[in-house]
Amino acid sequence: MVVNAIHLENFRNYSALNAQFCPGINVITGDNAQGKTNLLEAIAYLSACRSHRARADSELIRFEAQRARLEGEIFSRNRDFRLEVRLGRGIRRQMWSNGVRLKNTGELTGILKTVLFCPEDLDLIRAGAAERRKFLDGAICQLRPRYGAALAEYKRLLEQKRRILRDWPEKPSLLDLLEDYNLRMCQTGALVIHYRAHFIQKLNQCAPAIHASFSNGRENLELAYQTVKTVTDPLAPAQTIFTQLQDHMARHRQAELEARSCLSGPHKDDLLVDINARSVRTYGSQGQTRTAALSLELAQREIFYDNDGEYPVLLLDDVLSELDQRRQEFVLNRIQGGQVFITCCESDRLSALEAGQVLRIENGALLEG
Ligand code: ATP
Ligand code: MG
Repeated sequence: MVVNAIHLENFRNYSALNAQFCPGINVITGDNAQGKTNLLEAIAYLSACRSHRARADSELIRFEAQRARLEGEIFSRNRDFRLEVRLGRGIRRQMWSNGVRLKNTGELTGILKTVLFCPEDLDLIRAGAAERRKFLDGAICQLRPRYGAALAEYKRLLEQKRRILRDWPEKPSLLDLLEDYNLRMCQTGALVIHYRAHFIQKLNQCAPAIHASFSNGRENLELAYQTVKTVTDPLAPAQTIFTQLQDHMARHRQAELEARSCLSGPHKDDLLVDINARSVRTYGSQGQTRTAALSLELAQREIFYDNDGEYPVLLLDDVLSELDQRRQEFVLNRIQGGQVFITCCESDRLSALEAGQVLRIENGALLEG
């Protein structure tokens, strides 16, 4: 997938922008607060009408303006697409693909896929397990719609079971419902574990090679899936996992009633990351943990490629400043195939850039030359 051009009107700090991009590496530079992240946000927004940092569409409209317009020229699935989105204060957003009005964002899905990596994501490995589950879930949801449905169902059941376990001493009749919840949580939980295990297996096939190139072969990255203890093989068919989860739940029934909380299940899963056989979370340096996070993101991009036959557009916001020269050089020159956008402040880092285009942004405008 390639974003050939973007046209913005009153989007964030851009009153009017017309930018052309190259199919390879596009570096966006400029001082702080000039609009670099805003430009990545605009590209990401065209893929699913969602922003990683805005809670409401109205935040995307330029302060003084009533309406905003985004248009992208995209090449995807061997065809040209012209996507257009219009936003207005107090009115619903409107979307078009090649001039045809779209009824909902679902109709937009798949035309432009993006993988966005922002500075917060650099801390993925140091963060709590919930952040790593979010990374896994976000990726698998895009690959397998059935996973999204199973995960949503599991979360709903978990919420209700938590309430039962919290309130049962005051209202013992609630316990009549517990068996049914346990059964359904084991069914959907088995699916969730099955999908996560297969995705992590694929990550483990792609990420180590990427990480090795990053570190000049010095670092051996390894990933492992940590899930419910009684699940002996998370890659087994969902039916097998289901039986093991049921067994586990039956054995912990009393303990759960006493603790008044859900003690185990895929809602406690984690992705364990080692470098040279030691936990990166415990022993890794700042640069190592950040590079490992980036390796995971780049591996996700490879998995999308295997699945779709084309690369998603990679959006890297502000990652260079945290890496040493060799790792910067890798990001700038060694990401093969597919279109990449990289923002950075200091243009001196760009002396390492071998091919691609540099765009300078100042105060919501593109500088020529
Ligand atoms: P940094 O290097 O610090 O990350 P940046 O170039 O990525 O900077 P952006 O996050 O793109 O900066 O923001 C640029 C400017 O856009 C900010 O000063 C911000 O206040 C402004 N801005 C954000 N939302 C709007 C809006 N709705 N209307 C107008 N300006 C906005
Ligand atoms: Mg920024």
